[in-house]
Amino acid sequence: MNEQISCEKCRKNKSFERLCNDCRVEEERNIIKNLSNDEVDKKVNEIIKDIENDSLDYDAFMSLFTIRRINTKRIAKVAFDTKNYWPEELYVDADENVRDGLIELLSNQKYDKTIVDNVLLCLSVIGDDVVKKQFYKWHKEPMPWRKLLYVGTQSYAEGGGFTFDEDGNVIKLVFDKCYTLIKGDSKKAPVKIGQIRKDLCPICGLPLVDIITIDGSDDRLKYLGIDGTVSATVCVNCVGFEDMYSKYVLNGESHLIGDYKNGENCYIELDELEGIVSNKYSLGEEVHSYYGVYGGINTIGGFADFAQDFKYLDCPVCGEKMKYLSQIHWDTILEDIEGTIYMNICTDCKIIGSFHQQT
Ligand SMILES: [Zn+2]
Ligand SMILES: [Zn+2]
Repeated sequence: MNEQISCEKCRKNKSFERLCNDCRVEEERNIIKNLSNDEVDKKVNEIIKDIENDSLDYDAFMSLFTIRRINTKRIAKVAFDTKNYWPEELYVDADENVRDGLIELLSNQKYDKTIVDNVLLCLSVIGDDVVKKQFYKWHKEPMPWRKLLYVGTQSYAEGGGFTFDEDGNVIKLVFDKCYTLIKGDSKKAPVKIGQIRKDLCPICGLPLVDIITIDGSDDRLKYLGIDGTVSATVCVNCVGFEDMYSKYVLNGESHLIGDYKNGENCYIELDELEGIVSNKYSLGEEVHSYYGVYGGINTIGGFADFAQDFKYLDCPVCGEKMKYLSQIHWDTILEDIEGTIYMNICTDCKIIGSFHQQT
């Protein structure tokens, strides 16, 4: 076997290839970032051709869509005409005809579970008033296909970042604005990631961590509606097994709330956890709201890249759905931990909930 060599770019990570995985992904992203508009158009045409041939390159589409936020109106039309309903992001900019066609499908469809499932998600990302009204109607007057599904349209709507209550009032689950979290000097940054605390996890005894601390008074973060500095407290070990909630005050302090059973094993060594301190992530550039749904990017606001089903926590105090706040991919801050931690917020009750998913 060949010997691992230092990555050509970062000179830090070892790899069998010229670049380590991190730098390779970054290089691929930069290539797409730097495409001219003509080159992007050309790639869109290639994607359309692939859809027509039933051979969509998922990664090619998702990277172009998330990095360059291409308009998908033409793509959606072709996808609909060729009966391709996955991934739902193909339909984000679908026109009224396509939208109505999708609704029509679910009125006549011979109830194939996969198609119902995918078409509902396509509609959720379109998410306009017509879709919202239709989802509520299907909630109140379920179609025969409802029996095929584990959850109703209230949950499918979450794919488009909204849901609704029993009276049809729409509840928004995402912030429109999105920023990346990038490597950089975090000393004066309005966002800090992974600060180890003095208090210990009541479940496993590992020191708790403020996984994210956000200064909402920074101009760029005003959209979060946080009037001060807030932290989300978790146990890095135990959040892998159960959702964890913390209550914050606006000076940056927070504490874990909820009843946690004793006795979960701790799979993380203290010196491993200490690696979290050396990470230097801070607030990056503003990006569009779908930027973080693909490619393992840490973001605050916008949509999340759920490793499993999309999930929004219920606030343990008021019972309302919480809003998606931020995602941090574990491998960006700690070695040997897979998956992603997602943070949700209820600014009314000053609660942040955190949960973990992995493929
Ligand atoms: Zn713990
Ligand atoms: Zn609440």
